[in-house]
Amino acid sequence: MKLWKWPGPQRIRTLLWKILNDALLTDENRRRRNLTADDECPLCNANETETILHAFRDCHHAQQEQEGLRGRILGCLQHYTDDMEEI
Ligand SMILES: [Zn+2]
Repeated sequence: MKLWKWPGPQRIRTLLWKILNDALLTDENRRRRNLTADDECPLCNANETETILHAFRDCHHAQQEQEGLRGRILGCLQHYTDDMEEI
């Protein structure tokens, strides 16, 4: 699998592998393994099953995290471009 040749951090490779192979312990997967009876997302209380897609894309908590991360990245880029203009 090409994922293991990606030169990024090992923990990110492992996370991506688990996402691609539906191996993360979401509540949906925990219910499937009889580790819990409740598979609803514990964060948003929207009666949504906590699947991988919900946890990383659809949950409004995930969307807020993505917006925060996007803002921090843009802030860093702005900082570096401001520094370059001063040179
Ligand atoms: Zn949610």
